[in-house]
Amino acid sequence: MTKVLVLAESKNGKLRNVSFEVLTVARRITSGGEIAACVFGSDGEKYFEELAKYGAQKVYVVDNEELNRYTPDCYKQALLKVIGEVQPQIVLTGHTSIGKDLFPSVAARLNAGLVSDCTDVETGDGIVFTRPIYSGKAFQKKQITDGIVMATIRPNNLEAIENPVAAETIKLSSEIKDLRTVVREVVKKATGRVDLTEAKVIVSGGRGVKSPEGFKPLQELADVLGGAVGASRAACDAGYCDYSMQIGQTGKVVTPDLYIACGISGAIQHLAGMSSSKVIVAINKDPEVNIFHVADYGIVGDLFEVVPLLTEEFKRALA
Ligand code: FAD
Repeated sequence: MTKVLVLAESKNGKLRNVSFEVLTVARRITSGGEIAACVFGSDGEKYFEELAKYGAQKVYVVDNEELNRYTPDCYKQALLKVIGEVQPQIVLTGHTSIGKDLFPSVAARLNAGLVSDCTDVETGDGIVFTRPIYSGKAFQKKQITDGIVMATIRPNNLEAIENPVAAETIKLSSEIKDLRTVVREVVKKATGRVDLTEAKVIVSGGRGVKSPEGFKPLQELADVLGGAVGASRAACDAGYCDYSMQIGQTGKVVTPDLYIACGISGAIQHLAGMSSSKVIVAINKDPEVNIFHVADYGIVGDLFEVVPLLTEEFKRALA
């Protein structure tokens, strides 16, 4: 029987959806064992019900003001405390900025094996994690056979399925000490729009968008579809949009239900960030570009003609 601990993550007073996806993965691998979740910060207790709804039997809350904002030092101390208490065989979280930053340092401290950015998890003869390599060109299957297993799960990739259980909350106090980093202020890029990494629909623009104004029709289409706007690095480098919108190997990795690539050629570094999208639509003037090899639907045409037509059609269809 396997004991799994899930680090749940909240953002703007809400649990991130990836936490529910990770709890669903935990259920697949416990084989009747225990699923514990942990949340950090002074509002941690309010997430209890939602975590129980997705199968967490025990919810560990580390209540300390220092944990209201992420810093590697304080989260590491809190997670090590919970791991010491729960003694899990497996520790999971989302492959988010926090997961990417925190898990390697905790794994190093515990001498544990870490598999990051998992896109699938199978059980059978042990637990086998699948993760993309070579910018998504191939997939690697990994198994850790010794000691604690840690893994980060790619957001928006595996379905979150409810499984309500009776749960208990356990409050842990954790003395946070020797902090080497302090967050003085968090300045948000307050767009008020859908978060790119959690968006179900992404309309992305590349160099073909040609200017900052060229992103306007893409934003209109994204707004109609309740989605977010992303970009290629070439569009960011050209100053058409902010780097926070960059998707790809050195940008964000996204897995929306629908990805609409406008004026993007499909370089391998861009595909690394979006090729696991469920449905890909590409709009490009050049019928020979690489993006058409990964697209489910290709539209050969000028994006400035095609995108407004799509917006109008979706407006009509969704009215
Ligand atoms: P281009 O390749 O210039 O393509 C523009 C496309 O727009 C063309 O296909 C053209 O036919 C089309 N077009 C032009 N006008 C129109 C129009 N009116 N209507 C329709 N189509 C039109 N790139 C990323 O995106 N993300 C990354 O994270 C990333 N990381 C990188 C890391 C490294 C180490 C390196 C070396 C590169 C990285 N790159 C990354 C850059 C990558 O190699 C490409 O240069 C970049 O993705 C190209 O962006 P693009 O497709 O927008 O531009």
